[in-house]
Amino acid sequence: MKNELTIVGSGLTGPLLSTILSKNSNLKINIFERASDPRKLNQFSGRSINLALSKRGIQALKFAGVYNKKFESLLIPMHGRSIHSIHGDITFQPYGNKKEHFINSVSRLDINKTLMNFAEKMGNVNIHFEMKCKKADLVNRKLYFDKKNININSPIIGADGYRSIISKNISEINGNKLDYVDIEHSYKELTINSKNGEYQMDPNSLHIWPRRDMMMIALPNLDKSFTCTLFMKSNGENSFEEIKNSQNLIQFFEKNFNDSIPLISNLETDFFKNPTGKLTGLRVPTWSYKDRGLVIGDAAHATVPFYGQGMNASFEDCRIFGEKLQNEKQYNWDEIFHKFYINRKKDADAILDLSLDNYRVMRSDVLDKKHIQKQKLAFILNNDFPDYFIPLYTMVSFTSIPYATVLERGKIQDMILDDLLNKKYDKEKVSKIIFKHLTKISTD
Ligand SMILES: Cc1cc2nc3c(=O)[nH]c(=O)nc-3n(C[C@H](O)[C@H](O)[C@H](O)COP(=O)(O)OP(=O)(O)OC[C@H]3O[C@@H](n4cnc5c(N)ncnc54)[C@H](O)[C@@H]3O)c2cc1C
Repeated sequence: MKNELTIVGSGLTGPLLSTILSKNSNLKINIFERASDPRKLNQFSGRSINLALSKRGIQALKFAGVYNKKFESLLIPMHGRSIHSIHGDITFQPYGNKKEHFINSVSRLDINKTLMNFAEKMGNVNIHFEMKCKKADLVNRKLYFDKKNININSPIIGADGYRSIISKNISEINGNKLDYVDIEHSYKELTINSKNGEYQMDPNSLHIWPRRDMMMIALPNLDKSFTCTLFMKSNGENSFEEIKNSQNLIQFFEKNFNDSIPLISNLETDFFKNPTGKLTGLRVPTWSYKDRGLVIGDAAHATVPFYGQGMNASFEDCRIFGEKLQNEKQYNWDEIFHKFYINRKKDADAILDLSLDNYRVMRSDVLDKKHIQKQKLAFILNNDFPDYFIPLYTMVSFTSIPYATVLERGKIQDMILDDLLNKKYDKEKVSKIIFKHLTKISTD
């Protein structure tokens, strides 16, 4: 029992966590996954087709030994945002002021399959597919599956996503309520296919059609297609509910995303066939129960996708948890779980706040002159005071500064930007303001 661990969920977090843990310990790990093995079926039934991978995720993949040349070949760099105006013209806004400031588009299926392969290659990780956990009873150390119930004599880690059975059980035991943060917007995925074997738009940027109360984005895929995600309200004006037939759809697209119509060749089929997904954040009040169980990744803290950080934050969880375990001689799980929760909870809460706020930035602020000026000024301040002023997007995507610190410093920096905007730039005076409000910080 001392050297065993059970994980529920073999999505993105479960296999990475087990790779890290089995690399740095002699733990024997069993993973139970409700779905079939995607490597055999080659089909996908997940939350989104592609994802943006950035520094925090890469750092964790490197820590696990997963980030090799083959892995890198799955990534498409995106250096900034290509903003599609309502009239069809495109402007480019870089993500950062350094050449290494780019994020990467990656297929969820590819990354999932790669992580499962790595986990299994460790030799002490077993993934059991088609094992849907219906109920967890951590008090009595039992997991209930469709066909059988299993007594589990090891700690159980829930990596079973935002509708986690393990989070539910931990919350019931601790007498608290899961805090789901539902926003009034939903999403739908559409495809821009390749044309004559080529991408139809620049593949090295994240495309955005910001329309104030809604937006569409597109991320490139290796097969030269793009996956678009349309975000808008579920009900009311300009909402999914309003689009009932082909005529409504075409009129809506002609009005709002006209330049994308020739690109999305199967617009009608995609729109009416593909599901409309809900966007839900989650704050789990307590992440562990004694030495019996812990939740990690989306099961502990799901966020909305507007900073592209859900997977990155989940991977960062795995690295932080793995680093903690590296120094343990004896597995005092109660203490390990509790310390992890204390260390990480405030950051998990912060990335949800940051992500909710970034939806406004993406669908609306990027269109505003003031926002663009502030972004330019932020790069100037970063060039002049690189150890003090780090633009918000840079802190989130290109550093591993804890999210709670990012949130706090982001507010101070925003105040400084508002104060300096439209004033003559005097480096001497500016330095006084910077040093008064910000401390030196490492970007590693
Ligand atoms: C539209 C959208 C876009 C996104 N874009 C990005 C992005 O660009 N960048 C980014 O970093 N993040 C993004 N995310 C967030 C990202 O998808 C999640 O943070 C990530 O998938 C979390 O991984 P996870 O393994 O914790 O959970 P999941 O990926 O949800 O995996 C959970 C696993 O557990 C299994 N499971 C669930 N319940 C049970 C059960 N009862 N029994 C057994 N198995 C079970 C599931 O089948 C699944 O395999 C996006 C999310 C959405 C919805």
